[in-house]
Amino acid sequence: MIEWSEEDLMIRDAVRGWIDAEVRPNLDALESGELPPYDLLRGLYKTFGMDEMARSSFHARIAKEREGGARESEGEERSGGGGAAMTMIPVIELCKVAPGLVSAMGVGLGLAAGTIMKRGTPEQKERWALPLLTMEKVGAWAITEPNSGSDAFGGMQATARKVGDEYVINGSKTFITNGPYADTIVFYCKLDDGSDPRDREILTFVLDRGMEGLEQSKPLRKMGLHSSPTGELFLNDVRAGADRLLTSGSQGGKESAKQNFVTERAGVAAMALGVIEECLKLSVEYARTRELWGQRIGDFQLIQLKLAKMEVARLNVQNLVFRHIEMQRAGRAMTLAEASAMKLYAAQAASEVAQEAVQLFGGNGYMSEYRVEQLARDAKSFQIYAGTDEIQVTHIARDLLSR
Ligand SMILES: Cc1cc2nc3c(=O)[nH]c(=O)nc-3n(C[C@H](O)[C@H](O)[C@H](O)COP(=O)(O)OP(=O)(O)OC[C@H]3O[C@@H](n4cnc5c(N)ncnc54)[C@H](O)[C@@H]3O)c2cc1C
Repeated sequence: MIEWSEEDLMIRDAVRGWIDAEVRPNLDALESGELPPYDLLRGLYKTFGMDEMARSSFHARIAKEREGGARESEGEERSGGGGAAMTMIPVIELCKVAPGLVSAMGVGLGLAAGTIMKRGTPEQKERWALPLLTMEKVGAWAITEPNSGSDAFGGMQATARKVGDEYVINGSKTFITNGPYADTIVFYCKLDDGSDPRDREILTFVLDRGMEGLEQSKPLRKMGLHSSPTGELFLNDVRAGADRLLTSGSQGGKESAKQNFVTERAGVAAMALGVIEECLKLSVEYARTRELWGQRIGDFQLIQLKLAKMEVARLNVQNLVFRHIEMQRAGRAMTLAEASAMKLYAAQAASEVAQEAVQLFGGNGYMSEYRVEQLARDAKSFQIYAGTDEIQVTHIARDLLSR
């Protein structure tokens, strides 16, 4: 794949039209936190029939699983890469305007629903994943704690203690996307069985808003990604039946969370591409029109260097995204090293491009009206969540050295 197909471009134009009509007029309200993103995202889903598509593919998959064909249907899902472009294009287009919308959507669909779809029973999928996949409900995926971010599993302190048929869960989580508004929370903790805390089994529960002992904070104030509410969760003796426990599978809860890292990291590259494309477009327009010393700033070589580096970044990140789509179409999975390398490069490229766009705009770049400052603040988050840059480096090296 070296370029988008005609069909892809039609989808892109339709998504752009929807964003111009629905998101741009609401950008200030999203940025101030006055407008949570969920109704807008539901609107996107309805407009493009994505809710009905999600519902029918869910029912087809569950029917197969009930007939004992779960493995087959998973294989089909992996190789169904025709839809990869359809998921990437809205991500790229939304990120040109409000990357936070994609974080809010991606966590609910990709991480919360994705985990339940991989590890849930058919009943758990019907009960919790389906309303997330159709966007009826808001989902969160909670691993990070105040004392364990990069060392998420080693340092995890949230616990589940077995009492009779139930588990009693305690602990707190932080920086949780959708945390303040989530109806459904995929919650990671350690089985409190008296063994060495670093070696304890990781358990994953599905929790509902309003459960006794579960508190969801207000949105935290943060540098960027304001259209994606981020918060804390506090659990004090939350009682969960075994029906809320997801299976650990043969590889355990830790391994299944790592599989999510691959999906999430590839998604961040598409987000980065949206930011880069938009910053480059805005910068070229500005370099053409801003005049100083009787000439447009685009004639200055130092400005040209910025534009050239942005174009290099755009081509490289676009190629990474196209490669990911091609691999999905071929039914090939990315290694952890590949997904981490893709995320590391794309996140740094988006951050650098957006910072350089601010510089190219001068004082205007520092003003919200010109939009590049928002994209620069938003892009910084790409280097932190889904594993920091430093953690990507360790994952790439560890994967390469282990072969
Ligand atoms: C906007 C946003 C949304 C988020 N959403 C979610 C969510 O939905 N769910 C969730 O569970 N989490 C979420 N997170 C948390 C995110 O995954 C963590 O912030 C991230 O993993 C880093 O952890 P930390 O913040 O605790 O930093 P720390 O782990 O404390 O890291 C501090 C510094 O040390 C560096 N460092 C750590 N280990 C090493 C090492 N071995 N070698 C070299 N350097 C190292 C880090 O790279 C970093 O620079 C979100 C974070 C943000 C900012």
